[in-house]
Formats: sequence, C-alpha cells, structure tokens
Amino acid sequence: MGLIVQKYGGTSVADPDRMRAVADNVAYTRQHGHDVVVVVSAMGKATDNLISLAGQVSETQPGREMDMLLTTGERVSAALLTMALADRGIEAVSFTGSQVGIITDTTHGKAKILEVKGDRVRDALRAGKVAVVAGFQGVSTDREITTMGRGASDLTATALAKTLDADACEIYTDVTGVFTADPRIVPQARRLPKVHFDEMLEMAGAGSKVLALRSVEFARNHHVALHVRSAFTWEPGTWITEEEPSMEDPIISGVVTDTSEAKVTVVGVPDKPGISATLFEPLAAANVNVDMIVQNTSKDGTTDISFTMPVADMHIAEDIVARVAAEIGASGVNHDAGIAKVSLVGAGMKSAPGIAARMFRTLADRGVNIEMISTSTIRISVVVAASDLEHAARSLHTEFGLDSGEAYSAPLPERK
Ligand code: ASP
Ligand code: MG
Repeated sequence: MGLIVQKYGGTSVADPDRMRAVADNVAYTRQHGHDVVVVVSAMGKATDNLISLAGQVSETQPGREMDMLLTTGERVSAALLTMALADRGIEAVSFTGSQVGIITDTTHGKAKILEVKGDRVRDALRAGKVAVVAGFQGVSTDREITTMGRGASDLTATALAKTLDADACEIYTDVTGVFTADPRIVPQARRLPKVHFDEMLEMAGAGSKVLALRSVEFARNHHVALHVRSAFTWEPGTWITEEEPSMEDPIISGVVTDTSEAKVTVVGVPDKPGISATLFEPLAAANVNVDMIVQNTSKDGTTDISFTMPVADMHIAEDIVARVAAEIGASGVNHDAGIAKVSLVGAGMKSAPGIAARMFRTLADRGVNIEMISTSTIRISVVVAASDLEHAARSLHTEFGLDSGEAYSAPLPERK
C-alpha cells in the first residue's frame, strides 16, 4: 500500500467515455489499497480551443487574463472526474492549483514553481479521499492565477509527487511510453523500457512531446522516478530513472523530430562586438526561447545571423527582431516556418566517436540538405526542410539500428 500520483493527459480525458475509463482506473488503483492523487489536463484540445477563442475575440491578450481563461480547462476535467468517481462510490474532491498551494513566480504563461504546500491534498488523503488536482496552474506570490507553460500538468504531477513523497508518479498519455521515434512519423519505432533522465531531458529539449521538459528537469533534480504509460491499454510503459545505461544498451536511444520551430535570419548584420547581445537580450526579456543559433563568417564587415525559435512565439519575436535589425543597421530579416529539426539522442554517444559523421553521411546519401547543426554531449540536432522530415527521420532510425522489424500497429491518436 502506497501513495500514487497519477496524471492523465488531454487525450485520456478527451470525452465522457474516456473520463469514465479514467475513473475506473483510479477506482482500480484504490481497490489495490493505494492512496491516489490524480492530476488532470484539460479535455482533448480544450486548451488549444480556448487560445483560439481568445484570438477570435481580441487582439489584446494580457497574460493575466489568458491564465484566467486557460486554467478553466483543467478545472472542468477535475470537477467532472470527481463526479465520475462519486458514481463509483469513491469519495473524491477536486482542487485548483491555487487551492493545493502551488505557489509560483509572477510570470504569466510560463510561471515557475517556488513552493508546493499540498496541505489540502494531505487533508483529503487523511480523510480517505482521492484528491483530484487541476494541472498546469498555480497561484503567484502576487495572488494571481498563473499557468506554467504548455504541457505543464506533468510538472504539477511531478511536483506533487515530490512534496507528498509519493511511491510512484505515473504519467498516463496517448502512447504506451517513450518511443525510439514518433510512431506517427517513423512506423518502425518501438517502445523503450527505460530512459535515463539525461536522455529524456535531451529528448524533451529536442522537441519530444511525451513529457514536458520542465517536469523532467524537476523529476531529475528531486529524484522522482516517472512511469510514462498509456491510459488506453494500461500495459507497462517506460520508466524515466537515474539508472545509468549499461554497456549493452544501444548508443542511440532515439530519433526526435520537431516541427514546432521556425528559422529567422537577420541578413547583413555589421560584424562588431555587442551585436548578438543587442539582438538576443530583448528576445530573452520577452521570454522567447531561442534554440539554435548560427552566425556566418563575415564578408565585407557584415554577417548573417540565423536562429530557430518556437513558431508559437513568432508574434512576439517578429516586432522585436524587426526593431533590433533596424537599430543595428542590418539589411533585412527572413522568416522560414518550413523547417524541421531532427535529433539523435543517446547517452552512449559520450563514449562512441563518429556518430555525427555517420548521421551527416546518412542524410547526404538521401539527398537531405542540412541547414543548421547543434550538439550536446549526448545529442546531435540538424535543421532540415520540413518536406525532408520523414525521410530523414526514417533513414536515421534504420541506420542506427532502432527499427523494430515491424510497423507500429497500436491504434494511433490523431497527429497534432
Ligand atoms: N492543458 C495544458 C496544455 O494543453 C496543460 C497540459 O496539458 O499539460 O498545454
Ligand atoms: Mg502533455
């Protein structure tokens, strides 16, 4: 008998049937004698729909009001699941992030957790109830409602697991675990039984949507083992742990693909000290997550600076970049949304030279042009044309021995 934190993502609670199925699973977990804290995401595409609704109503979207709006999605899920649990004779109580004392800083839309009190969750558990917590949200030190970034219900679950010293933190999602690639893009992908925190961090940073980056960071820093598994099949999934990979594990754990970024090029930038700082400081101040940066060698005293960043932040970045480009006397700015990032991730890379060369050769042989490159000790990422994405990902998956030998056959959720 222990305490289990279970997080159910948007697809797991997408409709009344799914919601009831989740209630069944919570009931089942309870029958096995466990205390359960549930964290829920908004139903299906509810968050996307609210964002689009805001866009249709207004061009002014203050962070505070967006957070007031978006947190309703999770609140709907929490209340409905609690009702479904009541039908099953399970006493449960729903809470917002604020009610359970998830205290954040004041950055709307991307707030950071400062403290998790959890008192009301503890009280509920002591009273023999299931606590159902609305994910993704908290309350700031200014007493405003905040959200912690897209996908942050994972973070809510991880942080609660830590605070409550839970025995397990289960992340239920629409796939059966962490895969060697996105099965929607690489049908030969297979499930990984375990992934080291460092690899999972790189995968999330490279664009894998299975777990939100910050929840992996949090889990690693606070030693919370995560179990990623499917809410549709309940089979064992993937453990994200501190366990070091063994010699027998493959060098490459996965091929990660990402189509959520765009490339911005500032052309004809004077090549002198301070220019990069002038460009990237205001982007950082606006919380735009710049990813890869490439600066060309200068010709005639000017150079081009290219960088990638989330398409979703483009509306903020566009004005800033245009203003800075004019200020520093650059000759122009180009935007390219037709790009994709393909990354190889594997802890084994540290001790195996030549992985990058093999990756580039594989792509070259397929006629895939590489536009940008970046690396860490256990990751190599390239930017290619979006139209080359499938081709590039599949050939790398085969080249590095990751193919399962059979096409992934479980029913696939709709591709976002
Ligand atoms: N509903 C939020 C989102 O779509 C948070 C989450 O699902 O974790 O980003
Ligand atoms: Mg998610």
